[in-house]
Amino acid sequence: MAEFAKITSRVIAEFEKILGNNGVIFNDKDTLENYAHDETGGEYYSHMPDVVLKPENTEQISKILKIANAECIPITPRGAGSGLAGASVPIFGGVVISFEKMNKILEVDKTNLVAVAEPGVVTNDLCRKVSELGLYYAGYPMSVETSFIGGNVATNAGGSKVIKYGNTAHHVLGMEAVLPDGEIVQFGGKRRKDSSGYDITRLMVGSEGTLAVFTKIFLNLIPLPGKTVDLLAPFGDIYTAISNVGPLIAESKTLPSAVEFIDNTSVILGSKYNNITLPFQEKAGAYLIIQYEGRDKAELESIYEKAGKALIDGKAMDVFVADNRTNSEKIWRIRRNWLEGIKAFEPHTPTGDVVVPTSEIPQIMECISEISKEYKVQIPVAGHAADGNLHPAPMKPKSMELEDWKNLSEEILSKIAIKAAQMGGAVSGEHGIGFVKKELLKKTKSKQYEIMKSLKDAIDPNGIMNPGKLF
Ligand SMILES: Cc1cc2nc3c(=O)[nH]c(=O)nc-3n(C[C@H](O)[C@H](O)[C@H](O)COP(=O)(O)OP(=O)(O)OC[C@H]3O[C@@H](n4cnc5c(N)ncnc54)[C@H](O)[C@@H]3O)c2cc1C
Repeated sequence: MAEFAKITSRVIAEFEKILGNNGVIFNDKDTLENYAHDETGGEYYSHMPDVVLKPENTEQISKILKIANAECIPITPRGAGSGLAGASVPIFGGVVISFEKMNKILEVDKTNLVAVAEPGVVTNDLCRKVSELGLYYAGYPMSVETSFIGGNVATNAGGSKVIKYGNTAHHVLGMEAVLPDGEIVQFGGKRRKDSSGYDITRLMVGSEGTLAVFTKIFLNLIPLPGKTVDLLAPFGDIYTAISNVGPLIAESKTLPSAVEFIDNTSVILGSKYNNITLPFQEKAGAYLIIQYEGRDKAELESIYEKAGKALIDGKAMDVFVADNRTNSEKIWRIRRNWLEGIKAFEPHTPTGDVVVPTSEIPQIMECISEISKEYKVQIPVAGHAADGNLHPAPMKPKSMELEDWKNLSEEILSKIAIKAAQMGGAVSGEHGIGFVKKELLKKTKSKQYEIMKSLKDAIDPNGIMNPGKLF
């Protein structure tokens, strides 16, 4: 990696010429501080940028990158900063490019079923806009209300609907991007097929700002699903709950749109945080939340009767059906606010993000439980059980010093992640690698890691794009 240059007053003047005074934040410690961290863990995973730039269009970004590439200045693209792997933390300082002013939905094309959005669009704004037109963007994560589309694409975000609709990659048809040397290119577009050589769009998705800056994104839309029903199934213990996921999907003969898992500790904390009580809260060891979609009430009823029977056969304590918005919201609020619920009780709670084949979920849960006992650390777990993606969240013992906890929690999460990879899974299912998991990436991907690194070097020879992330 080349030596990075310091930001001089001459460079700041050049940025101001491109963006005007309002688009350049420099020498304002309090404001710069807002761009120094994401949601990974403020205190110990943060680094100040030297300058924050707020462009309004692609041409401005192209000019910024030309300067940065010529001067060897690190560039860290930043979405909403909701990431959980430190990917938008500028660990080498330099420039943070924030997309908060590039927040327009440029087009909803009802003929081609494509939305075209700037990277700073809040994901929920896009979901809401397309739903007004009877359409659906199925790639949204649980952080839908805060994260940006650009961040979702750059992390290849997942969410609760992956079992039915796939993760963000499945919904990205193309993008306009600015390469590190400032060249503006378009990969893919409004087409759904393209067998002309390597799929660069797919390479860009999940690249965590290390290859290019996305300035416009083409997203796949589908018709809005008719009706939904949510089932809540409490189980006596976590193994019985989690062991039901595979058989439920296999035996109910209808693909659910979500199967979420949440353990008892998470429910108790979430219940206090959200002021909601779930049935069997004091007795259940864990819950599954299952969602189905259907054309009408009759179809949904026949689906949930089959699923309910499968769950009762699988030793669910009961199965509760939420077929109206109020009851559904009650169930989903606890799951959606899972992390906030835990952090309200213990703020120093990092979040793991392992994925395994669904058949291995009971084994990875057992491994988490053994590690919890070995280290005497409480590890609540929730996750997108339908696709094998679990989030263990080790909670800091009250008496432990922060610095000791940082090392210990990293050790705990690394152990779990390596086990997941050994079971045929991966060290990140949806949050990405950032700088927090880069050693794990190297350890578990071998030849793939080498190929990734040579692609990075070919596209960004000066290494200015989000340095210190992934590699
Ligand atoms: C409560 C909570 C719940 C969450 N739930 C989920 C979930 O269900 N599923 C999930 O996948 N994640 C989840 N996350 C993690 C996070 O929301 C996602 O990783 C999200 O995709 C990050 O988007 P962001 O806009 O905040 O990006 P940031 O965190 O700002 O950045 C993430 C990465 O994207 C890059 N980037 C951003 N914009 C661009 C661009 N225009 N061009 C190039 N690179 C860019 C950055 O450089 C960085 O590498 C959750 C987080 C929280 C706090």
